[in-house]
Amino acid sequence: MQQTTHWINGEHLSEASSLPVSNPSTGETIREVADGNAETVARAVAAAEAAFPAWHDTPPAKRAQVMYRFKQLLEEHSERLVQLVSEEHGKTVEDAMGELKRGIENVEYACGVPELLKGEYSHNTGPGIDAWSNFQPLGVVAGITPFNFPAMVPLWMYPMAIACGNTFILKPSEKDPTAALAVAELLAEAGLPNGVMNVVQGGRETVEALLDTPAVKAVSFVGSTPIAEAIYSRGSAAGKRVQALGGAKNHAIVLPDADIDNAANTLMGAAYGSAGERCMAISVAVCVGDDAADRLIAAMQPKIAELKIGPGTEKGLDMGALVTAEHRDKVLGYIEDGVAAGAKLVADGRNLKVAGHEDGFFVGGCLFDQVTPEMRIYQEEIFGPVLCVVRVDSLDEAIALTNAHEYGNGTCLFTRDGEAARRFADQIEVGMVGINVPLPVPVAYHSFGGWKRSLFGDLHAYGPDAVRFYTRRKAISQRWPSSFETSHAEFSFPS
Ligand code: NAD
Repeated sequence: MQQTTHWINGEHLSEASSLPVSNPSTGETIREVADGNAETVARAVAAAEAAFPAWHDTPPAKRAQVMYRFKQLLEEHSERLVQLVSEEHGKTVEDAMGELKRGIENVEYACGVPELLKGEYSHNTGPGIDAWSNFQPLGVVAGITPFNFPAMVPLWMYPMAIACGNTFILKPSEKDPTAALAVAELLAEAGLPNGVMNVVQGGRETVEALLDTPAVKAVSFVGSTPIAEAIYSRGSAAGKRVQALGGAKNHAIVLPDADIDNAANTLMGAAYGSAGERCMAISVAVCVGDDAADRLIAAMQPKIAELKIGPGTEKGLDMGALVTAEHRDKVLGYIEDGVAAGAKLVADGRNLKVAGHEDGFFVGGCLFDQVTPEMRIYQEEIFGPVLCVVRVDSLDEAIALTNAHEYGNGTCLFTRDGEAARRFADQIEVGMVGINVPLPVPVAYHSFGGWKRSLFGDLHAYGPDAVRFYTRRKAISQRWPSSFETSHAEFSFPS
């Protein structure tokens, strides 16, 4: 069986032990992925360390040239990459193309790295003294990424890390690892020197080896909250800089004055796009008043029944399969749990069968009404095509409910009331906020990150925060001898 290999020092490296990679639309194992270990990580680290000095000394404008070529290659190869993403993840090709385009925007931002790395300068901070800060790369940095955006999330990380002068080791999700490898090959074609970008495949053992290697100076992680928290603790304890983005339970609040048809349309994409396997998916609709809830549900039910669901690699579908049989079973377990807890399942996607793809990991769109905060389907991240409607009496109650949730990744308010929108944006304890925008994913020149247990660490992903995350500030004060030199020693603090 074909193996998705490691990519170390510009070469493919296979591994004796491997993990299966399946096509979620058919349920078949289509290839295997190398299952790395401490030895593989040591090889990648050695390659990245060896490549660092020359890459560090390469002028930022030259590093940016590689990013320009890389962007062109990503565009030229987009159809192939999108097929790979869809085949292993299950999402539709249109959705995969959207993901890739959002990823490419991060490469475009990294092309501006000479401007982004400009330091801060002060002339004459004292007699004959000038001072400046510059931003230097850290060395070898690592990225560990989730299954749900196999192209985009890695692109949040390494273009900027590399453009800033670091060398990089990516550990993609073992569930859909092949697109990340294909993208790394394009970086080599773009002229990136060997060893600057490396990919090590595998699971927990590979990750732990990266965390335990002193030469890895920083780790960017995106994945589920329990793993994010563990990575943050272990990496920080080892003295690394760590940013670890975790899970989510994103609330959309629907006020009675909202354009309900528009809210229903956009919530369809936000809740069921990518089968709900997005960290910014809306999984809770908090309706203020029974009338808003009834109208929203009435508008969504027929749309859910009409969802076009099938193998993501076929064009023109709305939703594909869930990533693995295990994940499908977990999602089905949550639905059973919601029913048992007394929530009303007003759209039931449990028995969906896709003709010709009976062994695929499909679940249809599900909508729960009468969900209450103590239910597991409200408290936990389901990461499937399941939207929960919670009914409340006021905007204040909706804000308090959202703020009390352990996660704080994204949220949205549907309204026509400017005062309510302003209050919401001010008081909500969530990192990314939309007003009539259900998926408020920041563009590449802003930064992405949640609050509370959706992010461990200080700096958000990509955008300006990434420049700070992947560099260290150095403050330099410089004085050259002049005719005003003092002839005696000064012992008081210079001021
Ligand atoms: P996951 O946490 O299972 O895996 C993420 C990465 O961690 C993978 O590379 C995996 O191999 C590795 N990993 C898994 N278990 C590990 C362990 N015990 N020790 C060390 N490494 C381990 O997440 P997933 O299922 O791939 O992705 C879905 C999750 O990611 C969801 O919770 C989703 O909300 C979250 N996510 C968050 C964001 C964000 O920006 N906040 C973005 C995308 C996905």
